[in-house]
Amino acid sequence: MIKPIKIDSHYKPSEKLLQGRSILITGAGDGIGKELAISAAMHGAEPILLGRTQAKLEQVYDLIEGQTGIQPIICPLDLEELNEDRADELANSLSSELNGKLDGLVHNAGLLGQRTPIQNYSAKTWNSVMQVNINACFILSKALIPLMSASPDASMIFTSSGVGRTGKAFWGAYSVSKFAVEGLAQLLSEELSETTSIRVNTVNPGITRTSMRAAAAPAENPESIKPPADIMYGYLYLLGPDSKDMTGQSIDL
Ligand code: NDP
Repeated sequence: MIKPIKIDSHYKPSEKLLQGRSILITGAGDGIGKELAISAAMHGAEPILLGRTQAKLEQVYDLIEGQTGIQPIICPLDLEELNEDRADELANSLSSELNGKLDGLVHNAGLLGQRTPIQNYSAKTWNSVMQVNINACFILSKALIPLMSASPDASMIFTSSGVGRTGKAFWGAYSVSKFAVEGLAQLLSEELSETTSIRVNTVNPGITRTSMRAAAAPAENPESIKPPADIMYGYLYLLGPDSKDMTGQSIDL
């Protein structure tokens, strides 16, 4: 049963909220992930930028270095190609760079796939969307849980959607993958709450001005919807110590 809750949109993160925290963000080259990487660094975090387009990650690196002096770690990786071996390699290399500890993991990367009835849905697209939106979250979480367990206060965030909580016509694999995200987050939050300090929650960003939204609703005026900056309060709250006791929640921003 999913009962979404809200975070106070007036939440004011302290300037040093994420000081000393290393936070891996997938899909950090664009949209919400890009904004979050910059925002986290502005609050003291060391971001790890994972994404499939190196040039975009380098641009985010330059922005962060220019604004904060922090030099993020860049991980160019196509999540469609992710398997357990590649994830273990990533975990090993991060372990040496981060002294064995990771404080945050934001599963943000996403693929929209087709907006079409199931009868017309391509199985190839279905598999790609499921691989990026849910399988990669499972594989990456599994590989990084040991590093996160070494943190005294770790936060894992999954990215859901309105159509991951109520099925809607023509959203195909995207909708189904987001339901799966909710399930994975629920069971992980239970498993990890007993033995680690890792909390696990899902976030539905709501309609937000990004390339994905433009592809999903091409007739919509982008100026009529909120930019990613307007929802950073929720991510910062969940990544920092103020949400220490919150786990297993589905959050609407
Ligand atoms: P964008 O399309 O703007 O950004 C998605 C990011 O994910 C991009 O940086 C993209 O890389 C990356 N990505 C996609 N496929 C892969 C892959 N195979 N390997 C690595 N990285 C990949 O989308 P949003 O910022 O809008 O979406 C962020 C999250 O929020 C998604 O999970 C989405 O489902 C969710 N969401 C968004 C809503 C909205 O209205 N915007 C509403 C509800 C949920 P590249 O830049 O190289 O393409």
